[in-house]
Amino acid sequence: MKEYGFENSSAASGLLDHLTGLPAMTLFLDLADKGCRKIVQDGEQAAILFFDICGMKNYNHKYGFAEGDSILKAFAAILERLFYKDHCSRFIQDHFVVFCSEKESGEKIQALFDEWQESDLKQTLPIRVGVYVIDSERFDLITACDNAKAASDVIRNTFISRVNYYDKALQTDLEKRDHIVSNFDRALSEQWIQVYYQPIVRTVNGRVCDEEALSRWVDPERGMLAPDEFIGILEDAHLIYKLDLYVVEQIIRKIGTMKKEGLHIVPQSVNLSRIDFEECDIVEEICKRMDEAGLEHSLLNIEITESIVASDFDYMKTQIERFRNLGFQVWMDDFGSGYSSLDVLQDLTFDLIKFDMRFVKRLDDSMNSRIILTELMRMATALGLETVCEGIESKEHVEFLGDIGCCKLQGYYYAKPMPLNDILDRYRNGEQIGFENPEESGYFDTLGRINLYDLDWIMADNMLNTERVYESVPMVIMELNDEAVRIVRSNASYRDFSERTFERNIGKEFERFETIPEHHQQYFLAPMLQCAKSGTRMLVDEQFANNTTVHTFMRRVACNPISGTKSVAVAILSVTDDAPGASYLKNTEEP
Ligand code: C2E
Ligand code: MG
Ligand code: MG
Repeated sequence: MKEYGFENSSAASGLLDHLTGLPAMTLFLDLADKGCRKIVQDGEQAAILFFDICGMKNYNHKYGFAEGDSILKAFAAILERLFYKDHCSRFIQDHFVVFCSEKESGEKIQALFDEWQESDLKQTLPIRVGVYVIDSERFDLITACDNAKAASDVIRNTFISRVNYYDKALQTDLEKRDHIVSNFDRALSEQWIQVYYQPIVRTVNGRVCDEEALSRWVDPERGMLAPDEFIGILEDAHLIYKLDLYVVEQIIRKIGTMKKEGLHIVPQSVNLSRIDFEECDIVEEICKRMDEAGLEHSLLNIEITESIVASDFDYMKTQIERFRNLGFQVWMDDFGSGYSSLDVLQDLTFDLIKFDMRFVKRLDDSMNSRIILTELMRMATALGLETVCEGIESKEHVEFLGDIGCCKLQGYYYAKPMPLNDILDRYRNGEQIGFENPEESGYFDTLGRINLYDLDWIMADNMLNTERVYESVPMVIMELNDEAVRIVRSNASYRDFSERTFERNIGKEFERFETIPEHHQQYFLAPMLQCAKSGTRMLVDEQFANNTTVHTFMRRVACNPISGTKSVAVAILSVTDDAPGASYLKNTEEP
């Protein structure tokens, strides 16, 4: 087996494994070759089973190597009991291989899972099992073991023991993997890999404000491959950083071409993978390339998915900060596609969040998804983040997302990803969506963030400050019965307003009507009582002696079925005095 350095392995030269006493690899290969041939000659099928104990590294780390050795011995003992000792082997570490007749393999694997589950260990680790079936005498045992291992390797992130059989689909997949990995360098040098660009459009002016670089593999034999057919493979092979740096280099060349064409240069987004951060100092590598080309870092947006961040939070936090301190924008891609989105937002600073396409997909058929997206947008904006929705495919999407204050939009409605030449052709033919002048970006950004369903935007002083969330219309909920009234809840704006405006305010305890100033009883309490009883919504103007009028809107919100108490929500719309339009509300004047 290539992977184990079988031919020159000194560990494999001993006949028995020193730890478990099972046949070592060399002996096993000999025994299994003969054994499998015999099974096939007897008219049955043979099976090679490859066992991998998941999580051994952590187990050793947690309990020490001596405990780790015990777990391996315990596993070997079960194998020996269920299969004959001469049919089993430990190849290396926690990798065991067994041969048996295919007929009995399923039952025995299940028996092994059951015994393993019941064994008296500190922690039971899941087992992944790959099975390769031998059905003719023309087999190569080393390939059979490799294939069984490959079948086990594709079982990912499992918390329970599982079996996978090597079959045609897996074979095709492995061939494809092999094709991608072995041709990758050639694909880069001969430009099979092309970078396509998709415009990201500013909602408020319909102009391209950013572009996202997306890779395509145009294979001479297999045709066009989409990223999901090669990105994962390049990640598994730890080669993806080469692709991502290549994309950055292509972006740099593109910016040069666009400059020559006299086009506005908008920031370009590049997608990074987790492995990029492991295989090289990606921050440094990207920075170096931008600097060599004399380009401002703000021209490159770094897109990182929430799953990358969640995989190693502290480390990624540092890397994101490094990028941001160097002037790159960092965008969180596919927000909402995993379970950790909100956690990630609590502790990390991004410049923008890109909502996962599934949010937009569901807008068409569910009111709930509209509500969720509206609230998430409000949250993102309150955190001071810009927002993009991907997967925009219709005019209705554009209108709705514009209304709720989504800053930027990306999707087939505007354009599919396309190569640079197509962008230039479209531009020359006058078909291209115009590019935004970057000097106007800040202005349009501010306009675009306003949620048109949210009155607070107009009232608030500082539109982009996180504290804006709490600068809202003064609002109070009052509870009344036939003779008394009290405040149940009020917001900070109301408390501030009432302190500045009224000499005396109703408190948290019930107060009888007669203790309240008569003027207030007549002009405020009376309509509120009417509202509480009838449920009619009311606009009430209460005039005070100094020619001040407080304009309120009130509506009943609930009736207590037991006590008969009713509650009424009151919003202070404005306060005016003699001078028309003048207001007592704090912070309403332009700075
Ligand atoms: P992503 O970064 O979330 O990119 C958006 C994907 O949505 C792209 O798919 C794009 O073509 C597609 N898309 C855009 N608008 C629409 C629409 O209106 N409807 C539909 N149905 N789809 C739309 P693509 O190009 O297939 O890329 C898939 C993923 O592959 C990307 O997701 C990104 O995570 C990854 N990827 C692509 N290129 C690279 C790369 O060069 N490096 C790395 N590391 N990842 C890449
Ligand atoms: Mg992306
Ligand atoms: Mg995305």
